[in-house]
Amino acid sequence: MDSDTFPTLVAKRFEGKVAVITGGASGIGASTAKLFARHGAKVVIADIQDDLGSLICKENQDIEFIHCDVSQENDVKNLVDTTMAKYGRLDIMFSNAGIAGIGFTGFEIGTCDINDFKKVIDVNLFGSFLCAKYAARVMIPAKKGSIIFTSSAASVINGETSHAYATSKHAIVGLTKNLCVELGQHGIRVNCISPFAVASPMMTGAFGVDQAKGEEIVHEAANLKGVHLKAEDVADAAVYLGSDESRYISGLNLVVDGGYSTTTPALKMALIAHFS
Ligand code: NAD
Repeated sequence: MDSDTFPTLVAKRFEGKVAVITGGASGIGASTAKLFARHGAKVVIADIQDDLGSLICKENQDIEFIHCDVSQENDVKNLVDTTMAKYGRLDIMFSNAGIAGIGFTGFEIGTCDINDFKKVIDVNLFGSFLCAKYAARVMIPAKKGSIIFTSSAASVINGETSHAYATSKHAIVGLTKNLCVELGQHGIRVNCISPFAVASPMMTGAFGVDQAKGEEIVHEAANLKGVHLKAEDVADAAVYLGSDESRYISGLNLVVDGGYSTTTPALKMALIAHFS
């Protein structure tokens, strides 16, 4: 839901709650931060884009920014420590920061550079691990909490992203499920969201197109027609997984792809091309 058109009569899910959102300065993270705040949460966004992060806080007094490179353990520790010092609680950790990393060369294993591969794993996977580690440390004594990761439709469809990106996003699903077992004993839920392509700066930057063109390309490829996937649709999924409405949901990979991952149109397309 677009936070600017949020209906005033909708029940607020996060009154009195505190959320940390990594990668919150842009795209899916920024949309989620604004929507969480509309739901009554105090939100701490953590990112390496200081100017963008600070701008969001200027426009919204319920959101604050902390510089944090999620691949650096001290930064993530400081993020959670600072949040706890200010608010005394952490209800939702939305570990969302991620990079696409290498471009199309990352599709070819023979020329894929190990340092490029490591960089993607550092941010997408080790960053998620660190966020979970420091969130769990404060959620376990509280005996409650919701940890949400952003994985990707690349966790369920293969061959459409680089090897590093696909590997990192598959691994996040594994981390989600393993953590759900350990942390369920402490009343903590762990889930991930796997969006199809969103025309965020990550996607438009990679393809060198503007948002409208990005959405058009995605719509053309999409299974579900008549609707454009937006960052706000992913934010809605995060509200669900962060709120008590999903209180018995844990270990889920919530795929937000309009059914794209259920389709296998290649044979149909080949048959149409062959017989037409
Ligand atoms: P985005 O580029 O708009 O936002 C990502 C944010 O993460 C940026 O603000 C960036 O500065 C931040 N970030 C990058 N490295 C960081 C680091 N080391 N520490 C802290 N912050 C860092 O892109 P987005 O589309 O909003 O991406 C959000 C998440 O969604 C990512 O995990 C991405 O992999 C995932 N995702 C995106 C798409 C898509 O098509 N856009 C699809 C599926 C999954």
